[in-house]
Amino acid sequence: MALIVQKFGGTSVGTIERIANVANKVIKEVKNGNQVIVVVSAMAGETDRLINLAKQVDELPFEREMDVLVSTGEQVSIALLAMTLIKMGYKAKSFLGFQIPIYTDGVFTKARITEIEPDNIQKALNEGNIVVVAGFQGIDREGNITTLGRGGSDTTAVAIAAALNADRCDIYTDVDGVYTTDPNVCPKAKKIKKISYEEMLEYASLGAKVLHLRSVEFAQKYNIKLQVRSSFKDEEGTIVCKEEEIMEQPVVTGIAYDKNQAKISIIKVPDKPGIAAKIFGKIADENISVDMIVQNISEDGKSTDLTFTVTKNDFKKAMDLVKEIAKDIGAEDVVGDENISKVSIIGVGMRSHSGVAAKMFEALAKENINIQMISTSEIKVSCIIDEKYTELAVRVLHDAFELDK
Ligand code: ADP
Ligand code: ASP
Ligand code: MG
Repeated sequence: MALIVQKFGGTSVGTIERIANVANKVIKEVKNGNQVIVVVSAMAGETDRLINLAKQVDELPFEREMDVLVSTGEQVSIALLAMTLIKMGYKAKSFLGFQIPIYTDGVFTKARITEIEPDNIQKALNEGNIVVVAGFQGIDREGNITTLGRGGSDTTAVAIAAALNADRCDIYTDVDGVYTTDPNVCPKAKKIKKISYEEMLEYASLGAKVLHLRSVEFAQKYNIKLQVRSSFKDEEGTIVCKEEEIMEQPVVTGIAYDKNQAKISIIKVPDKPGIAAKIFGKIADENISVDMIVQNISEDGKSTDLTFTVTKNDFKKAMDLVKEIAKDIGAEDVVGDENISKVSIIGVGMRSHSGVAAKMFEALAKENINIQMISTSEIKVSCIIDEKYTELAVRVLHDAFELDK
């Protein structure tokens, strides 16, 4: 008997009919003789609705209460799915994060899973239940409810698969696999049969929301066989696996974009040792993660401008904080811009090829898209651009690198 973890996203459990469809997929695995743990997200739109309610109370809601609120979406969907399975004649039992428990650190709204106790789930499985687990949530060591960040149910699924030594983890979603880029933006996008953990990590960290970043980290660390596939079509999906298992490797595998980006510039920062450490130390203390950083050369040897990016979610919090820091260190001004996005090209093949970045810049230039910031690693190149050109940039780059071929 194999143990299988199946995860279904918001669209897949968006209506009662769709929940019945999910139940059928679960039952199919049970009929094949497998034990099944199902992880589900909140019904489509529910998490957004809850966040919107909170913002009507406070633009920057108190984060502990935010997690109490947004974790409720998954409570609804696990109960509905368990009921559906029971109604269809199967034994099923739902669990919230704290009932398992799934332990996390105490960083509200973007907590990390630290430990999962397998005993309660194991017991329910042994009693012949289909186990239905709420994605996206956990509990910290003080007993507070926490959530894992948007899209975090993927991470719950993979972490559970690791903790219970599952044979497979299938991520069912509204697309039938990982594509060369978001198929909803670029109709020419092609499905990738197999993708390496390394590349999938880049895709996820650069904004392709098809898999939550930490789910890929867990899968790689614990060597979990991960498959992304459709909730609605019975087709083969995309396998995420070790690089060695993939035969051919194009230079550029795909394009990712991230609209959840904002830019903050501190103008006329004193040019002396220790300033950057002070600024970014204070930002890190508030659990705000900074992505790209650009510091101009100092023209007069006295001051310089410093620009960096954060997520849009963190923008307001970061702006308030940076304004305080700027006063403290004697900088002249702080300027923010939320209308930016990041487009990236990804490919492990870049390691051994030159001229890839130049080709990217050229393709963007041809469409008159201005590049505001650039960052590179061994296997990706990212550009910050005006948000309104995001989709155009994705399609232009997809064409330039002939990813439809
Ligand atoms: P779920 O609710 O099932 O977790 P998500 O909306 O989080 O689904 O993720 C699936 C979405 O990811 C797709 O609908 C698609 O628009 C988007 N996406 C972005 N990049 C890619 C990509 N490279 N391949 C497939 N889907 C992608
Ligand atoms: N419901 C959460 C969200 O919308 C978690 C998830 O769907 O993975 O972000
Ligand atoms: Mg998701």
